[in-house]
Amino acid sequence: MQILFDVLRQYHYGNNEFSQNNTHLKPKETKPVVPSVLWVGCSDSQVIPHEVLGLQSGEVLVYQNIANQVRLEDAGFRSILQYALEELHIKRIIICGHYECSGVRLALQTFDQQNEYEYSDNSFNNWVNEIKYLAYRHWSKLRQILDFKMRCQRLAELNVLAQAQKLYQDDNFIKNQEDVKIIPWIFDQERYKVVDLSCEYDRQLIAI
Ligand SMILES: [Zn+2]
Repeated sequence: MQILFDVLRQYHYGNNEFSQNNTHLKPKETKPVVPSVLWVGCSDSQVIPHEVLGLQSGEVLVYQNIANQVRLEDAGFRSILQYALEELHIKRIIICGHYECSGVRLALQTFDQQNEYEYSDNSFNNWVNEIKYLAYRHWSKLRQILDFKMRCQRLAELNVLAQAQKLYQDDNFIKNQEDVKIIPWIFDQERYKVVDLSCEYDRQLIAI
């Protein structure tokens, strides 16, 4: 209990410090800031989307899950996508993965240990089933990358491309909106820099 109290006190202290040191982040106008971009990112990416884009926090509509997946069957994802496109009229959707992703790493570690990617009682494991299948489909190339970290990085890139393609092919929201641009990015924490996968996305649109 004491540990929890200490942690909460640390959070409050951190918030006070943040509030005092970041007055420049507070909106200067009374009217609310309208997001101009939807960011689909990973929950463990350690990326602050608006900082990466050089925008205010309110200018980015953020959706995150493990391994930045486009889950069109997920009501949470569909609702934010609809809100972005139909209410906010957002025209740019960034799908941003990252290297050293725990979800991608788990998928790569376990993709060949499950037959037919059956659902188990491990939610984290189930959540990355589609990435395991992606690794399976690209295994002939991935297996040539002997270093596991590099192999994970390549799978993280392929995952971003696959998610972008899935969103691009969505019949309900995207397909009839030609002016909506889907931007596939991956974040490199070591260099603290975004890698743009757009060229590869165009080339691999059919192949992923
Ligand atoms: Zn991640």
